[in-house]
Amino acid sequence: MSLTAFRAELLSVPEDPSRGGEAAIRHHADGLLVVENGLVVAFGEHADLAPRFAEVPVETLPGLIVPGFVDTHIHYPQTDRIAAYGNQLLEWLEHHIFPAEAAFADRGHADRVAAFFLDELLRNGTTSALVFATVHAQSVDALFEAALARDMRIVSGKVLMDLGPESLHDSVESGRAGTEALIARWRGRGRLGYAVTPRFALTSSDAQLASAGDLLAAHPDALMHTHLSENRAEIAAVAARFPSARDYLDVYDRFGLVGPRSVFAHCIHLDDRALARMGTAGASIAFCPTSNLFLGSGLFDLARADAHGVKIGIGTDVGAGTSFSMLATLGEAYKIGQMRGVSLDPFRALHLATAGGARTLGLADRIGGLQPGQEADFVLLDCAATPLLARRTAGATLVDRLFALQILGDDRAISRTYVAGRCAWSRP
Ligand SMILES: [Zn+2]
Repeated sequence: MSLTAFRAELLSVPEDPSRGGEAAIRHHADGLLVVENGLVVAFGEHADLAPRFAEVPVETLPGLIVPGFVDTHIHYPQTDRIAAYGNQLLEWLEHHIFPAEAAFADRGHADRVAAFFLDELLRNGTTSALVFATVHAQSVDALFEAALARDMRIVSGKVLMDLGPESLHDSVESGRAGTEALIARWRGRGRLGYAVTPRFALTSSDAQLASAGDLLAAHPDALMHTHLSENRAEIAAVAARFPSARDYLDVYDRFGLVGPRSVFAHCIHLDDRALARMGTAGASIAFCPTSNLFLGSGLFDLARADAHGVKIGIGTDVGAGTSFSMLATLGEAYKIGQMRGVSLDPFRALHLATAGGARTLGLADRIGGLQPGQEADFVLLDCAATPLLARRTAGATLVDRLFALQILGDDRAISRTYVAGRCAWSRP
């Protein structure tokens, strides 16, 4: 028995408020969160729970506890190319990204970037993420070793790209063998998970896309992680290469890559047929607002994806994304909604960045809601992190404070990050 308890204001949105209404929001102004062996034992009103846990040591925390953030699309090898000037997707990949990823042939480099990357996630309150590595198997080993040391819930996989540039491609056979070896090496270790990861349709041959479909079918515990319909020039190139496909999604569908374990980043320019197919298949979208604005890719249509019942998570997509902060990313999601005539509700935004993201990764039973039995990953938010935030949130209602955090907040508003009940980051 190693029970510990945290007394603070608590907020969790385990169900989507756009479907579940007000009941989806769990808020306790004076709450108690009880943790044992990394798992949540109780989450509720302090006055109700205190008698039951009278013997348990209580730490009182100043701030608002929410579940740890779940980033559903981010590239760790692009950490050092964030804020790279001047191109849209395809040229940006050629000029800035492929040379940076080639450096991950060096395991020492991969180890150093992986350590910085995971610490940066923790500094920003992100405790779980679906992460692109590079084509090199050792880039995944580096990330998984570093994540294991931090006990973080990280899902990743070796990138499949047999049509990639000279310095950065595999083959159908080496891609398959590398994936199989990584799954065998890492399955069941710590809180890690594997994602079969074809980069996108243009960087894999038909044979490799088919092989990715075989890998996904052969490993029912693996996810599938790729990009879909991000940029107009990319979409035109896909249409030119696959003239008989109904649309971009159909290319993946033909190779067995569209199903409930599939997470597609971006999905900006999809029509109703593709979104309906995603909804029926149970596939997920990682909405990456800062990246979509930074690369000029377009404005994601959340309302249309909702109309087709597609599962949605939020991705920072660093390095095309411009921040590791899920708070800052939610602020940009709000602005994209405004451009589409929809104002993203702050509670729903928090849901998408936590339990909604967990659902896209097939982890809703384990993380994202701080429900009893779930893993105790949580963040202590500071509504007064800056003079402006303090002024704006003084005496404000919960929804007002939450929205201000999403519009004005970033890493500065994260006072502590807890992983499995243990403090993994504390703001100096
Ligand atoms: Zn991406």
